[in-house]
Amino acid sequence: MGRRGRMRAVPAAPLPARLGRLLLLAALAAGLVSCRASDVALDAPTTTTTAPATTTTTTTAPPATGMAGDPGVGDPYFPELGNGGYDALSYHIDLEWLPDNGSIDATTTIELTPTVDLRSFNLDLVGLDVSLVAVDGVDVGFRRSGREMTVLPESVLPAGEAVTVAVSYAGRPQPISLGSDVFGAGWQTDGREAYVVSEPAGAASWFPANDHPTDKALFTFELTTAPDQVGVANGVLVEERPEPDGRRTWVWRAADPMATYLASIVVGDLVIERTTAPTGLALRDAYPPEHAAPAQELFARTGEMVATFEEWFGPYPFEVYGHVVVDEALGFALENQTLSLFGTDLLGAGGAGERTVAHELAHQWYGNAVSPASWRDIWLNEGFATYAEWIWLQEAYGQPIERSAERAHAGADYGVAPGDPGNEELFQPTVYIRGGLALHALSVEMGDEAFRALLREWPQRFHDSTASTEDLRALAEELSGQDLATVFDDWVHGTELPPFPT
Ligand SMILES: [Zn+2]
Repeated sequence: MGRRGRMRAVPAAPLPARLGRLLLLAALAAGLVSCRASDVALDAPTTTTTAPATTTTTTTAPPATGMAGDPGVGDPYFPELGNGGYDALSYHIDLEWLPDNGSIDATTTIELTPTVDLRSFNLDLVGLDVSLVAVDGVDVGFRRSGREMTVLPESVLPAGEAVTVAVSYAGRPQPISLGSDVFGAGWQTDGREAYVVSEPAGAASWFPANDHPTDKALFTFELTTAPDQVGVANGVLVEERPEPDGRRTWVWRAADPMATYLASIVVGDLVIERTTAPTGLALRDAYPPEHAAPAQELFARTGEMVATFEEWFGPYPFEVYGHVVVDEALGFALENQTLSLFGTDLLGAGGAGERTVAHELAHQWYGNAVSPASWRDIWLNEGFATYAEWIWLQEAYGQPIERSAERAHAGADYGVAPGDPGNEELFQPTVYIRGGLALHALSVEMGDEAFRALLREWPQRFHDSTASTEDLRALAEELSGQDLATVFDDWVHGTELPPFPT
């Protein structure tokens, strides 16, 4: 995620959107917060949802043998995210957006392989009315509690034998207030336009998921929209077809494994523009037609950036790249896999906009191809993406990386360890700035050659997977032959900001 503001954009407690904005405006007027008004996502949706009461929708007794899959993967920040007992292989999300009443009607079909003999297992899903759950075509029971939906097959699902789970559901998705200091994560709508901002825990607001980066899967999206709307998603558009009632269906396929938080759809008044990077990589951008000129200007150097970053990071990890602009001043951008999300506030933003384009592109290697093993490792995403901005400033404008790092170091007192920012402010500045500075300190300690080898080897070794801070240290020590404990202790785990490394 690329941030423009450095503050909580909405009050912590869920409030009606308009009230939240008014309070924020009042706080700004009173000088209670120190940031430029243009940095604040004043129009960001602020409605959040509370967990529904426990509901039981079945009386079927589960099989007496086999195991119940764990309701979480034990993430140190969000223990309830994800689920144990299986590996999700693919999601097929067939979703109708009904803009007139702000609701969806969807069926998500998940192919998964049990890793143990399962008598029940969980999916993460918040809100929405589930009408049917089927395993290999047979209707089964289920029960729901908070984020957890427990699926109750009629017989034990043997370890290692893939099954297909279909979930049909409908309703008005609501963003989830969990681990985001920007706003409730997940489904967003500002009228007829709908989009998602799922990092870290919002995917469960719009599809049933094993919602943790450690279980990546393939995705297909089948989006049915109003006749005058366009649906875009991660990956490549493989089909566009008219429906008998005049609506349109857009089928997008993401061919590389993807973390659930990066799964993205946007339905709106959009045009799609296709170009090619100098490296041959297919690029496609989507934006509202009235923003065509500033959007084209903002994304004009993407192809050059791909070429520059391939020199530094190795081959671009996916089959396609591009951006989608929603008609909303978001106050941030988000690196959804192959399709980064931007708001109107970055249009015409000059250098800040261009740096954000570089930042989100760099996340395709650092964050998307290699995702954090736990949400405590978020600095690995943001530190690399910040460092990549400095690379772009050097390669495109001749400003040495060291100079950018020095300026960042002088900018503020980042007195929170980037390696443990806490689960309520995952995206606080230390994660970005001290994260980038930690990598600069590592480059000073390792020397240029070994550090550049690290930048390339990281996405090679851990692509389509996840990695932790310990993995980074082990790889850096392997490539440099040095003991790098002090750099990690001081820059990643220490509270006090160390002096600028020279
Ligand atoms: Zn970022």
